[in-house]
Amino acid sequence: LQQVNKIYQSGGRDLKVLDDISFTVEAGSTMAIVGPSGSGKTTLLGLCAGLDRSTSGSVELNNTRLNDLNENQLAALRNRSIGFIFQNFQLLPTLTALENVMVPLELRGEKNIRPLALELLEKVGLANRSHHYPTQLSGGEQQRVSLARAFSNQPQILFADEPTGNLDAETSEIVIQLLFDLNRQAGTTLVLVTHDLDLAAQTQRIIKIKGGKISSDEKQ
Ligand code: ATP
Repeated sequence: LQQVNKIYQSGGRDLKVLDDISFTVEAGSTMAIVGPSGSGKTTLLGLCAGLDRSTSGSVELNNTRLNDLNENQLAALRNRSIGFIFQNFQLLPTLTALENVMVPLELRGEKNIRPLALELLEKVGLANRSHHYPTQLSGGEQQRVSLARAFSNQPQILFADEPTGNLDAETSEIVIQLLFDLNRQAGTTLVLVTHDLDLAAQTQRIIKIKGGKISSDEKQ
């Protein structure tokens, strides 16, 4: 990111949420973005992942400037290279766990997607819940389905917004291990937004955001 600013329009007024943010994430590394509620972390993650656009400045992924892409090109890039785990899971409610994981595989034009999706659910320990709908799953199970879905396109980079936010300690540990395994085994770059300082401490770098600015950036 280079000199990224984000201004929301709210009630006829401008709200500057990100102010001159620049940093580079090394491929294959792990990092956490921390900071108080409302400091702009989710907004920042969304810009990095091409889910939203910066007001000014540039966001690049592997020499592709996201700002220059139209919506279709952005969607194709997300589907090809980026995984995203949302704070509130964002599973499709009318689809089963298995079907939720099949969606990105189908979009990529993969063949034989059912066994592939089942394999991904097995990886997160949920093969026995494959025919359940999201409302029939616990919060931790929904989060694991969203992980399986995010893993399905073998992303180069995975963004996770509060991946352990609503989970108990035991389920958090399972989710954290799955994320770090993906980094170690597939070399997937991990960028996590978290309030959990123990989780942040397990990453290689912590960026703190305060009032839309980077207040510290430390390797550990
Ligand atoms: P939390 O830790 O509580 O999830 P956060 O650091 O992720 O917070 P953001 O969700 O990025 O913060 O929000 C930053 C600020 O931008 C907040 O003040 C929020 O109210 C505001 N904001 C977020 N989205 C919008 C929007 N679409 N329109 C207007 N204001 C917004």
